[in-house]
Amino acid sequence: MNGGGMIDFEIHRNPQPVTATEREALLVNPGFGRVFTDHMATIRYVEGKGWYDARIEPRAPIPMDPATAVLHYAQEIFEGLKAYRRADGQLGLFRADANARRFVESAKRMAMAPLPEELFLDSIRQLVDVDRDWTPSSPEASLYLRPFQIASEVFLGVRPAREYLYVLIASPVGPYFSGGLKPVTLWVSDEYTRAAPGGTGAAKCGGNYAAGLAAQAQAMELGCDQVVYLDAVHRRFIDELGGMNIFFVGRDGNLVTPELNGSILPGITRSSIMTLARAQGRDVSERPVSIEEWREGARSGEIVETFACGTAAVLTPIGVVKSAEGEFTLGDGGTGPVTEGLRQSLVDIQYGRAPDNYGWTTVI
Ligand SMILES: *Cc1c(COP(=O)(O)O)cnc(C)c1O
Repeated sequence: MNGGGMIDFEIHRNPQPVTATEREALLVNPGFGRVFTDHMATIRYVEGKGWYDARIEPRAPIPMDPATAVLHYAQEIFEGLKAYRRADGQLGLFRADANARRFVESAKRMAMAPLPEELFLDSIRQLVDVDRDWTPSSPEASLYLRPFQIASEVFLGVRPAREYLYVLIASPVGPYFSGGLKPVTLWVSDEYTRAAPGGTGAAKCGGNYAAGLAAQAQAMELGCDQVVYLDAVHRRFIDELGGMNIFFVGRDGNLVTPELNGSILPGITRSSIMTLARAQGRDVSERPVSIEEWREGARSGEIVETFACGTAAVLTPIGVVKSAEGEFTLGDGGTGPVTEGLRQSLVDIQYGRAPDNYGWTTVI
């Protein structure tokens, strides 16, 4: 059962699923991360035995001993991806193989047993199939999938755990922004950083998010929506937002995004945008961008748009940037045409409205 060998999922159907009428009511306006499906997938790992006991089972609380390692030392990783209701009524996954690969990389960084990619993908296909009726069909809605892995060993010593639990849950979500694209206001944190060289910035782990909440709270107190982080060494170059990568659009229509320096999460949306922008004939470069370059570029008109990107919100225009040195506006503070166009190209592929020339889509 170890390594890449396949395990069959035992399927235990929920004996008391939500009724079709209740479900339809919940799908009208699900918001984000508040409504959950009837089932979850779980797989266990023990050192020496490998991954075993793969199940699709009724969604339920996870009983846990108070000395379970994850509760103390935060050995935890997660992923985020979506199943989309396509024009023909089928369900599509977008680049799930890239999530599977990144999950392995995150596991390695956190000294956790990596889940074989095929097992990760199988869990996704099986859960989406069992809970397929939970995928909303309203525009820009989707079934958000949240795989995560925790150190489940009951032990207070400080060393990598020898037991892990992988869980996949699913949550129908509405459009991230109800009422259309709204540009966000960012706070440039001068107090906090997100990731340091040698740290965990490139891993998708809950600890990075916990460490960012104080900065997020500060941003909100200052009337901003999100934090944009500067690099930890020079406190000068733009890394990314708390949970989204960033792109700058030049006057010439070309794109720049910070290079993956080990402190930036390698976003799958980021990588997809790079491909789509190049297909539109744009030049895309990965290089450090300083806060001065951004501020001066916005003022001179050299930088005409800036957007953030990630699976949850797709592409989010950035309207205003506030910092201790004052604030600046991107373009007219609205949604620029390059941001809008790239967003449209991406969601059209995700929802099966445009041909996928890249093999990004899996239909379930
Ligand atoms: C998940 C995440 C992103 C976006 O990654 P996608 O694969 O595009 O969803 C960006 N930054 C951070 C810190 C993240 O956790």
